[in-house]
Amino acid sequence: MKTTKLSFSYYPPIRATVSNTYLWCVNFPSNSIEKAVEQLSKFPGVGKKSALRMTLFLLRSDNSVTEGLAQAIIDLKEKTQFCKTCGNISEAEICNICTSVNRNKGMLCVVRDFQDIIALENTGRYNGVYHVLGGLISPMQGVGPSDIRIDELVKRVGKGEITEVILARKANRELDTT
Ligand SMILES: [Zn+2]
Repeated sequence: MKTTKLSFSYYPPIRATVSNTYLWCVNFPSNSIEKAVEQLSKFPGVGKKSALRMTLFLLRSDNSVTEGLAQAIIDLKEKTQFCKTCGNISEAEICNICTSVNRNKGMLCVVRDFQDIIALENTGRYNGVYHVLGGLISPMQGVGPSDIRIDELVKRVGKGEITEVILARKANRELDTT
């Protein structure tokens, strides 16, 4: 779609309608602010207006805040990996849940992604281990069994240690197919 760049000399930014598309038209006082807004607006659910608010907050914050945030983001990518057993997010090859001697290794809860693990762990009511599929089979979206961790699940169950498998998602068409 062709975008039309409009410039306004006043603040706050105003919303203008161009060909039924809402555009935030802002003259940023520096390239650094423009870049920060551009990067922050990549977060899901964060538009340019919120990104600008976050940028101004960072601009007013102490260096310790901005440096801490930058380091946390770098660590997030450099220090985390997927657990080789269950697919959970982990800082080691095998995650804390899989290595814990206090977990029931015979009970396996199959989840769509690691966010489900966080939710279940926060209930404090589950003491088994997990298997992250990394998605659900969805022929409509071109997601087949080979696109998610079904083979790994079959292998784990085939080893014989697991006696109970639980599917931890609300029933929906993709889960039924999976
Ligand atoms: Zn694990």
